[in-house]
Amino acid sequence: MRNIYGMTLDELEEYFLSIGEKKFKAIQIFEWLYQKKINNFDEITNIKKSVIDRLKIDFSLERLKTLKVERDVEVNKYLFELPDSERVESVLMRHDYGISLCISSQVGCNMGCAFCESGRLKKVRNLDASEMVLQILQVEEDINERISHVVIMGIGEPFDNYDNFVKFIKIVNNPKGISLGSRHITVSTCGIIPKIKEFSNLPFQVNLAISLHAANNELRNKLMPINKAYPLKDLISEIKKYIAKTNRRVTFEYIMLEGINDKEEDAIELCNLLKGINCYINLIPYNETNNFGYKRSKKSTILKFYDIIKSRGLNVTIRREFGSNISAACGQLRSKKEDL
Ligand code: SAH
Repeated sequence: MRNIYGMTLDELEEYFLSIGEKKFKAIQIFEWLYQKKINNFDEITNIKKSVIDRLKIDFSLERLKTLKVERDVEVNKYLFELPDSERVESVLMRHDYGISLCISSQVGCNMGCAFCESGRLKKVRNLDASEMVLQILQVEEDINERISHVVIMGIGEPFDNYDNFVKFIKIVNNPKGISLGSRHITVSTCGIIPKIKEFSNLPFQVNLAISLHAANNELRNKLMPINKAYPLKDLISEIKKYIAKTNRRVTFEYIMLEGINDKEEDAIELCNLLKGINCYINLIPYNETNNFGYKRSKKSTILKFYDIIKSRGLNVTIRREFGSNISAACGQLRSKKEDL
């Protein structure tokens, strides 16, 4: 039995045709799922009973189990349990421009970044599209407000789960589905080049963020093993192609790690690498965890780093901090729970 929240509109149309029904029923189902937000197929009033009975056989409406919610003024952190008892996290953040939700794309992660809690616990499995969609739907229900922005920056590497990621985009972007504009969705990748190429061919204007964290191969190889497979030169050249093709600005994320990548020469090297590329650089104060020795750069170091980049004419921002009090940093709630 498939979870119906993982079905795109096209797939549902095919399904209805395959059972000898008109395909417009797919739109009706989307409206019941995402606008009227039913909990039970029997709530559907405009589809005949025999079809409803068939839906009950073929699809489940199973939700994620909310194991824990930590609430603060501007941030909520959710720990969800999946049907097979695995766990993932989502983080809601209130900004002046709206409410964003950071969702997970895998249980664990195989990318093995040296500083990242999510990768300390290896990938158990991919999330299917329904498990990504339900993170949004259930958080919206919890707060009884609309989420305006979604970032796929939680646990997992979305481009290592590419097909489900694309299905997810189709479902949430559909005006009859969650109806989230693609420009309000951002996907973050550690730099899996073949998937960046595929992504540039997608007919959706989803924003792309690249976790860079180092501006030379020697350091990036140490921090992010993926760099050995897809080194900086190739990555940057693929991103230039992506920008040429889509005309979209890319964000480069750069975690500030004390004594590792936060020196003046690192900033200059970063500017040289990204010079002339239509991009933003987002400096991220590192969220320390007990499991690695890395330290967050001092505030003054981050500001100095910022000034160097700014003075060279590149677009740079420092990520506002949310929720370090409530372990909102990537993967920490899940791994804490696992240590209990
Ligand atoms: N796998 C994807 C998306 C998930 S990670 C990627 O690599 O982009 C989302 C972002 O959080 C990445 O930039 C990642 O490097 C960063 N990150 C991981 N651990 C962190 C920590 N402890 N503090 C701050 N950022 C962290």
